[in-house]
Amino acid sequence: MINSRKIEDLHPKVAAMCREFLERCEAADIDVLITSTYRDNESQAALFAQGRTKPGHRVTNARPGHSYHNWRVAFDVVPMRNGKPVWGTSGQDAKLWEQVGRIGEEVGLEWAGRWQSFKEFPHFQYTGGMMLADFQAGKTIEGLA
Ligand SMILES: [Zn+2]
Repeated sequence: MINSRKIEDLHPKVAAMCREFLERCEAADIDVLITSTYRDNESQAALFAQGRTKPGHRVTNARPGHSYHNWRVAFDVVPMRNGKPVWGTSGQDAKLWEQVGRIGEEVGLEWAGRWQSFKEFPHFQYTGGMMLADFQAGKTIEGLA
């Protein structure tokens, strides 16, 4: 079961974007921790079970193979304040997330904090315009610079 936090486990294009994102966060004096990059299907299944057939609250709507993490093109982060992760989503915390989200968007990532349904502040992805079905069909974003 793999639930990686390593940037090297991302698709090279997304890994490069992730590194640039981290550099820009650092330049903006925002400490950011990567909590998840690549997840294998087994790990995704365990996550999907949480809040359904296993205790805990639901953290994903994606079944195995249906998360962009499974295709190495998504990563999750959490901003840190005074060495502690900021999970709040209102007031000052919301402002911090918004800043982090904008930095991600500046480097070309899609930020799930903007999604209308199942808003996910920690989640960033770059799919090169591909859908899950494309990845499942074996297509890659290799051709993209
Ligand atoms: Zn995610």
